Amino acid sequence: MATKNRHANVNAAQWSSVGGDGTVDLSKLAANVYGENVFSTAVQRQRLPKEVYRKLEATLSAGAPLDPALADVVAKEMREWAMERGATHYTHWFQPLTGLTAEKHDSFFNPSGDGTAIAEFSGKELIQGEPDASSFPTGGIRATFEARGYTAWDPTSPAFILENPNGSFLCIPTAFVSWTGEALDQKIPLLRSMDALSRVALRALKVFGDKTTTRIFTTVGPEQEYFLIDEQYYYERPDLYTTGRTLFGAKPPKGHELDEHYFGSIPERVLAYMLEVERELQRLGVPIKTRHNEVAPAQYELAPMFESSNVGSDHQQLTMQVLQNVARRYGLVCLLHEKPFAGVNGSGKHNNWSMGTDSGHNLLDPGDTPADNIQFLFFCAAVLSAVDTHQQLLRATVATAGQDHRLGANEAPPAIISVFLGGELERAFDAVAAGKGSESNKGNFLGLGTPVLPPLPLHGGDRNRTSPFAFTGNKFEFRAPGSSMSIGLINTTLNTIVAEAIDAFVDKIEALQAKGKSRDEAVLEVVKGAWKKHKRIVFGGDGYSDAWHKEAAKRGLANLPTTPDALPWLVEKATIRAFERYEVLSERELESRYEVAVEQYSTKLNIEAETAASMARTMILPAAVRYLTELKAAGLTPAATELKSTADEFLKQIKVLEKVNANHPSEEGLTHAKYMRDKVIPAMNATREVADRLEKLVADDLWPLPKYSEMLFIK
Ligand code: ADP
Ligand code: MG
Repeated sequence: MATKNRHANVNAAQWSSVGGDGTVDLSKLAANVYGENVFSTAVQRQRLPKEVYRKLEATLSAGAPLDPALADVVAKEMREWAMERGATHYTHWFQPLTGLTAEKHDSFFNPSGDGTAIAEFSGKELIQGEPDASSFPTGGIRATFEARGYTAWDPTSPAFILENPNGSFLCIPTAFVSWTGEALDQKIPLLRSMDALSRVALRALKVFGDKTTTRIFTTVGPEQEYFLIDEQYYYERPDLYTTGRTLFGAKPPKGHELDEHYFGSIPERVLAYMLEVERELQRLGVPIKTRHNEVAPAQYELAPMFESSNVGSDHQQLTMQVLQNVARRYGLVCLLHEKPFAGVNGSGKHNNWSMGTDSGHNLLDPGDTPADNIQFLFFCAAVLSAVDTHQQLLRATVATAGQDHRLGANEAPPAIISVFLGGELERAFDAVAAGKGSESNKGNFLGLGTPVLPPLPLHGGDRNRTSPFAFTGNKFEFRAPGSSMSIGLINTTLNTIVAEAIDAFVDKIEALQAKGKSRDEAVLEVVKGAWKKHKRIVFGGDGYSDAWHKEAAKRGLANLPTTPDALPWLVEKATIRAFERYEVLSERELESRYEVAVEQYSTKLNIEAETAASMARTMILPAAVRYLTELKAAGLTPAATELKSTADEFLKQIKVLEKVNANHPSEEGLTHAKYMRDKVIPAMNATREVADRLEKLVADDLWPLPKYSEMLFIK
């Protein structure tokens, strides 16, 4: 009988900084070249003919379509640059609706007919690709018989080189569209939404007398949480390598009660790993800035400097990939699942979002002059209005199977969307609503005297960690996204709904001005109206408390605890109206996203449930039986009786699980998703509950799975 030996744990705890794992000497300056694997603006300026570079820059800053004549020149330089850096292949790198990234590699080399090959890469190949990508989910947009989907170069996100010990390849960020022109990816709607917001916010800036700004960018700085465990444990657990989370595992004697891990000193192996991750990312032009331990044991976080939403989203995908790749070089595995360990803090992503002008002015920065303040209050009120109006939609953008194990628990933002503003800002809005902010009222913040509005920005300490959507000084931080998610749809949605709100505000202001009101009077009236109407979304207390759940219900805020509750909001009338109005996603494109999301939910849960049933029957039950035999042989009747009754109970639960796994409804879509939620998840949980009791009864050397205390504490 195979028994477990403790050497495994000792091995797992070992790593060496010399040789083997992680061999780059990061202390050498030459090993840290920021952006060296990026075909950046700097590289372009250096390599492209002046005229071509100038035209390309002009096109990009205007957000205008690209002149195909430029493409040939750019392609040639890009290929030569890539080949100098060892690349042999190129790929159009895109983000299908799975939320992952996709690549199909093509060689630069073509046979020349004389037995040799020449390197080629044309402008056409740069601009457009046609991967035979018929297996990506499309939510019914594309029938397989017309499986053509095109990738199209996104010149606003720089190309980069990914390395492998055996060679490298050039990645060209692209959009992915159906042959009928419908978006099949995360990038197209994001770019469209950035355009929409820019148009609308420019309209608003005109009201405020800004005549110089020509474009407004939305920005994102996503903080990423993740777990690291030794790869040995990972590969001993079919649940981890199949589903990314532990489907079984009793609570360890020690969890994160001691709070000793949070911001604690970072273990040497982990720090070595982080340093290499950061180096890799910096070479790829991803501006990683901070790192620290998170709340749970074995949980960490990293965050970049913010960038434009488009580049930031691409970089976020790269970050997840690099985190996972580099881990293996250190004998670790990086878990990005939202809830890898039950009873232990899960992982999310904090989506820091703002809007800024092409000259670098952050529109959500309060500023210190009265004029800045009124403009800031305007944009801030627009965000409040958008979030309140579309609270259910925002909840839907973060709804996935992984999130259902995390959101709403006492650790992550609740399934109720609310906004934290902080006391100072709430008081400022209250003052406006009470008419105290008017020009005539000297000494107030709009008057010429001392501003009532305290010198914002607000203190960093004025924070609330339980709020799903928090104002943090000069940006909003959406804290509900899951750690493994693409942030594409989230930012697309934020941009679109805020554009809608700004647009409506400007309409009202113009109407008031037409009636003879001054600009400031008109703006204040709109801000006041918005505050009265949308104040209900503002909450500064403990978002985890029961009291808040009751209060939120009283305020009429939506509480959508599970994915099947939330997803239908992707195709609600108000959603379709906003997305169609700003030409971000058509009804059909929204439908397709909805269908894909619903199907992914059911599919992922089904994989979990099948894995759970199989592990229960073929790994855990046999361990119980073996130990039972030992107990009986030793004549330990009371212990044997206790174990036997638990094992009997376990078998019964396994059968329940197997039965629900075998009896899915014939109807697909939401009905299927609800079945997974209402029947499958409870059966899985019930099976787990008995298994976790067995874990505490069966001899440790017979237990077939690494335990929580091993995975979380051996580093
Ligand atoms: P905290 O954990 O206190 O929220 P961090 O420093 O970990 O702070 O993260 C802050 C994140 O917010 C960083 O990724 C940063 O780049 C981002 N950020 C700062 N300003 C903006 C902005 N104007 N727009 C978008 N993101 C921003
Ligand atoms: Mg944060």
